[in-house]
Amino acid sequence: MIKKESIKNIAVKGKKILIRVDFNVPLEGDAVRDDTRIRAALPTINYLLESGARLALISHLGRPKGVPHPDLKLDPVAKRLGELLGRPVKKLDLVTGPEVKAAVDSLTDGELLLLENVRFEKGEEKNDPDFARELAAPFNLFVNDAFGTAHRAHASTAGVAAFIPAYAGLLMQKEIEELSRCLDEPGRPLVAILGGAKVSDKIGVVSRFLELADTLLIGGGMANTFLAAKGYSLGASFYEKEQLESASKLLEEADRCSCRLLLPVDLVVTRKLEAGSPSAVLEPQAINGDWKVVDIGPQTATLFAGVIKEAGMVVWNGPLGVFEIPPFEQGTAAVVRAIAAGKAYSVIGGGDLVAAVESLGLADQISFISTGGGATLEFWEGKELPGISVLR
Ligand code: ADP
Ligand code: MG
Repeated sequence: MIKKESIKNIAVKGKKILIRVDFNVPLEGDAVRDDTRIRAALPTINYLLESGARLALISHLGRPKGVPHPDLKLDPVAKRLGELLGRPVKKLDLVTGPEVKAAVDSLTDGELLLLENVRFEKGEEKNDPDFARELAAPFNLFVNDAFGTAHRAHASTAGVAAFIPAYAGLLMQKEIEELSRCLDEPGRPLVAILGGAKVSDKIGVVSRFLELADTLLIGGGMANTFLAAKGYSLGASFYEKEQLESASKLLEEADRCSCRLLLPVDLVVTRKLEAGSPSAVLEPQAINGDWKVVDIGPQTATLFAGVIKEAGMVVWNGPLGVFEIPPFEQGTAAVVRAIAAGKAYSVIGGGDLVAAVESLGLADQISFISTGGGATLEFWEGKELPGISVLR
């Protein structure tokens, strides 16, 4: 496993610390609609405040692409963070410069402030070393707690580490530990489940789980591409034509390896992608005309549930159907319930899957919910994540 020095082992009292957090939260007007990500950073923030550190938090929000955007300022986040901490959080409209330095210098032990959306700055996503130097200038230490952006080499996730000592925050460390379990010491049988829209996002992770897992269950839009590669026509269903060859290669890989790969044996289909639209359950060979696949079918859910019942560990990314449009969340829901009923240690990741599990009210049935989407996939794939590799 990747091992990082804990912030609990270093002297932080009186130190000026820049913390990269992932406060990329959904907003509704000027309020935070879902504060899960803010809550996830609280252990690190509280620990450092109680230890007498002086903190400046920095995050991105949305995709302003290097230009300030009034709707993407972090003021609503400062307000919500203040409510969660039980004290007001001062927010600056800047990220670097003399005013930031003065504000940081005026902090006393155990005080904090929040900087502006770092993606208002052109140097951020370019990982511009001059910008990273300016960012680091007011501080003694850097702590990265933003696992969700750790796969990006940006100035505030990786670049700053060239100028001040960089450490993993408590959330970052927890993510590394939990996501490493399936790689280093998996409960057996290890069952991996992959869904979501596209194979193209997930080829590396399919391949990796074919090596690691005992059984790989595939659903969602990406299952269509595999079924199409096996020769089924699937009517008007979404699939990726340009990925048929990679899907065929992965199917060949599956034949050679000891991992069992299961694709849906029946599917929920509809003609219109809207709530309440009439649907049917068909086997893959029966899907034609203008039918669109929108979920795994009940036989598939039972098949998957049987595999999960015997599992020692389940890891899962991507919903198994178009969960946003009821009742096409049922396949995903059946599989979460199977996890809840079983004895397996379970780890899930991916923005949409996590949203699906939360909207079903079943989040407490999962052993660990990763805050990462792309970062979780890259971690499982075995790639080096720049926001992690720069940490001590
Ligand atoms: P995650 O964020 O969990 O990694 P993805 O972003 O890869 O998941 O995919 C989520 C999207 O996949 C959802 O918007 C969902 O509607 C879509 N999806 C799932 N099943 C299908 C399907 N059969 N056809 C089309 N889209 C699907
Ligand atoms: Mg997604």
